[in-house]
Amino acid sequence: MREWSELADPVAGTRSTTTKVATVARYLTELPDAELPAAVTFLAGRPFPEADGRTTGLGWRAIADATERLAAEASAQHGVVAMGLGAAYDRSSDIGTAVEETLASAQHAAVGRPPGVAEVQAVFGAIAQARGPAAKTQLLVDLMRRCEPATARAVVKVLTGELRIGLRQGHLEAAVAKAFGRPLEEVQWAAMLTGDIGRTALLARHDELATATLVPFHPLTSMLASPVADETEALARMTPPVWVEDKYDGIRVQLHKVGDEVRLYSRELRDVSGQFPEIVRAAAGLPWDAILDGEILGWRDGAVLPFLSLQTRLGRKRPSERVQAEVPVLYVAFDALAMGRPGEPLEPLLRLPLRERRARLASLELEATDGFGLAALTTADDAAELATIFDIAQARGNEGLMVKDPESGYAPGRRGYAWLKLKKALTTLDCVVVGVEVGHGRRHGVLSDYTFAVIDDRPGAPDGRLVTIGKAYSGLTDAEIATMTRWFEAHTLSVHGRYRVVEPTVVVEIAFDVIQASTRHASGFAMRFPRIARIREDKTAAEADRWSTVAAIHARLQSGMRFHVLTVDQGAAEDPGA
Ligand code: AMP
Repeated sequence: MREWSELADPVAGTRSTTTKVATVARYLTELPDAELPAAVTFLAGRPFPEADGRTTGLGWRAIADATERLAAEASAQHGVVAMGLGAAYDRSSDIGTAVEETLASAQHAAVGRPPGVAEVQAVFGAIAQARGPAAKTQLLVDLMRRCEPATARAVVKVLTGELRIGLRQGHLEAAVAKAFGRPLEEVQWAAMLTGDIGRTALLARHDELATATLVPFHPLTSMLASPVADETEALARMTPPVWVEDKYDGIRVQLHKVGDEVRLYSRELRDVSGQFPEIVRAAAGLPWDAILDGEILGWRDGAVLPFLSLQTRLGRKRPSERVQAEVPVLYVAFDALAMGRPGEPLEPLLRLPLRERRARLASLELEATDGFGLAALTTADDAAELATIFDIAQARGNEGLMVKDPESGYAPGRRGYAWLKLKKALTTLDCVVVGVEVGHGRRHGVLSDYTFAVIDDRPGAPDGRLVTIGKAYSGLTDAEIATMTRWFEAHTLSVHGRYRVVEPTVVVEIAFDVIQASTRHASGFAMRFPRIARIREDKTAAEADRWSTVAAIHARLQSGMRFHVLTVDQGAAEDPGA
């Protein structure tokens, strides 16, 4: 571990990528096989490989306890006063450096045989397995007792993932390729498949990169999407026709199935099979082997339940029969990473275009009656079409859309432009400002808090009556607020203390999270987290939204019909991938 910590300094010390890569490569060539994987994994700034679900469960508190205990022992022994860890941290804002300085000031000296990197990783494994903070901390104390202060710093940096040596995954892959004279693409591909750059280094050394393959029950990191502001940006980043899927608001789950063995992994690569026993059971009986990517949603009577319901299940490791019955779940698949016939090895599909992967996925004929669905998919040729699809998805109460390049491969762990996410507030309502108030704090002295209303179109309501629905302070710029303040002052109908009733002609677009029934406002509804998105100068009060629209949104949220999932029967006809 000491040599490893000595390597970190020159790597951190240079800004040149070439020098970083060359330095690391030289170090790797000299390491024995037994040390190579752990050393490389640590250089990636993690105690365990990415694909390894373990975590040590050690927080800063435990690290501080261990350091302070060792510092107290050493300072008592040498009759010196050690620097407090808090004071050391204030100096460097780096926990690893603070640990080193504290131990050095206490004249802490390593006891016994210094640990190698593989041994350190084994202790991390023991810490992960140990139960309770006391047992975990004790293991760390025993390890750090054998380390010089500088080595302890390295241990802590790996533990906290705060390496700060400017070595990215790409640099590490380049160093592995250089160290063992292998093509960079082969190293990258093996690292992607295994989610284990340490093991990849070993494969590279022994010219066995080609043997790296997808292993069922070893989860891959998930492919990620880049956010885009609107339809136009999405289309600027991807050549049409693009593929468009609903963006479901559930939890990301990778499903591995071989024969009747089924495991589910979260986005953090944790095994969450125990949380969804019904999906595990249902999948076990199906006639295919595969690794699928998808989202688990709460689902009852053919409709998706709001995320809130699903949340009640997430806290439980093993949900009771009652909880399972209260919040049934559905696995909505949107991608296939590997597939195989029963009894044969899985074929990796990552390099195939999405178009092909989706066709394979569709061939599984997932059925809602089995607890499975296929993500709703359509295509768009231009921004206008995408906007229409967005509106429809939004009307279904979706979080937004995922825009995907049908020709793209599956890139585990990468956030690129092959998947784009288009999210907006649930919806917005155009409301009429009926009252304004002087704001607080920074907004003191200007009329910045608006009370707004919608048109009452309930039977029997007088024509054009406005009923209030909410109040928000302005999200407008200071200049806009100043202009509006002057306008409202000139169009005040009556003054009631801080509150002014104003001429109801200004239309504002309000974004919000949820509509709730409420007695606070005349409409009988209130918005949660209302935000003024903009002033609709293009709209007159008569063009504002109506009470019936608000009621419809409220009803949709209430009924749980927020989402739309294609089952195979519907999907087969429309699915461009099928
Ligand atoms: P975000 O969490 O906002 O970064 O959005 C990415 C997440 O959207 C993914 O991790 C998935 O959990 C989720 N998601 C929902 N629907 C889809 C879909 N059709 N394709 C990919 N990801 C989806």
